[in-house]
Amino acid sequence: MLEASQYYFNQAAKVLDLRPKTIKVLQTPYRVVKVEIVSESRDGDFLHHIGYRVQHDNSRGPMKGGLRYHPKVDEDHAVALASLMTWKTAIVNIPYGGAKGGINCNPEELNDQELDDMTRVFVSHIKEVIGPNLDIPAPDVNTNAKIMGWIMDEYSKYYGFSPGVVTGKPLHLFGSEGRSEATGLGLTFALEFVLKDKKMNFKDITVAMQGFGNVGSNAAKFIHERGGKVVAIGDHKGGVCNREGLDIPAVINWVNEHRTVAGFPGGDPFSSDEVLTWDCDVLIPAALDGVLNEFNARDVKAKIIVEGANGPTTPAADEIFKQRDILVIPDIYANAGGVTVSYFEWAQNIQQFRWELERINNELYKTMSNSYKDIVSTATSKNISLRTAAFVLGIGRVAKATIARSHFKNNKFEEF
Ligand code: NAD
Repeated sequence: MLEASQYYFNQAAKVLDLRPKTIKVLQTPYRVVKVEIVSESRDGDFLHHIGYRVQHDNSRGPMKGGLRYHPKVDEDHAVALASLMTWKTAIVNIPYGGAKGGINCNPEELNDQELDDMTRVFVSHIKEVIGPNLDIPAPDVNTNAKIMGWIMDEYSKYYGFSPGVVTGKPLHLFGSEGRSEATGLGLTFALEFVLKDKKMNFKDITVAMQGFGNVGSNAAKFIHERGGKVVAIGDHKGGVCNREGLDIPAVINWVNEHRTVAGFPGGDPFSSDEVLTWDCDVLIPAALDGVLNEFNARDVKAKIIVEGANGPTTPAADEIFKQRDILVIPDIYANAGGVTVSYFEWAQNIQQFRWELERINNELYKTMSNSYKDIVSTATSKNISLRTAAFVLGIGRVAKATIARSHFKNNKFEEF
């Protein structure tokens, strides 16, 4: 993950003609926090975990990014993901920097009481460096609205009522309308803009997707509502396909009950891995990183890939897609709907005023549309891929802000 994010950064840095010293300033995280978490276990013993919060850059505003609870969480992973958040918030032009973090743990082994206790100890150890004007965590892999509620409650014990310290909270606890669907809806908007440019319509496309969690299921719902045919879905337990298009509301009901698409009666089963090379127009990887790689990129049949997951495409696969003229809508733009609506949630918390769903979705559309236009015009003027253009745009905006705030004004970023 760290290698891939550095590879994509370096490609953009070349286009921007950044000096090595500027590159160092932009790549080095502002602050890396590593804490020991000793919490209570259900049998009265203690649990021991390590937690991280990496704050990458704050030149454009308070830092923003998710908290992940997973056995693979470590410093390198958090550094890579935190830097991607910095470029992502700049690409969609919301007033934030980037951060990421989490706890190295296996949440499947923890009950709610243990998760609650571990989360609260973590908050008590990082409370001095997070806050509504400093760094605002959000849900990520294996964390959810309930956990965000605990974070708000624990932080508020020290600093008083502070709903703006965290986003992705439950709707009844200062969360926002539209937040849970936002990443899937933003992804659908991104696909709509590309289809429009290609003089195509949702009714013309077949879609295959890997992952049917928050991102995948919501993207499927919005694509289905617009007339697109979702013909294959693969998840961690299996796959289901239907050439006529799956009945997505029925699949959602099935998954709510069975926690997997496997066994859904309105289609045929297949082995989940095959979904990435499915015969379709649009492929949406919405599960894991590194799944599109040098081993399968030549077999991908889709002509458009919309990256719902973070980092699904390795640099080697990215090169193959370029050679094969497969259009990739990159993760740092395509899945930015979630952080955008997190920003709306934070804005509502700070204003102590609620926005209606229609306003949220209109603002999300505007944000996704404006950044799409910015990315396409950068890609066209510099003859580069959408991914490199997105990085150029994000890094350029951060570099400009960094230099404008510093007393070293000898770099020129006027064109970005
Ligand atoms: P989730 O936990 O809700 O869903 C994950 C899905 O991936 C599930 O359907 C699961 O079955 C599937 N999966 C897991 N292992 C798999 C495997 N080996 N093969 C096939 N499928 C597998 O997660 P999510 O929130 O939907 O996030 C998915 C991705 O999108 C992650 O990379 C995450 O970082 C990224 N993302 C999420 C958001 C958000 O708002 N939720 C925002 C931006 C990016």
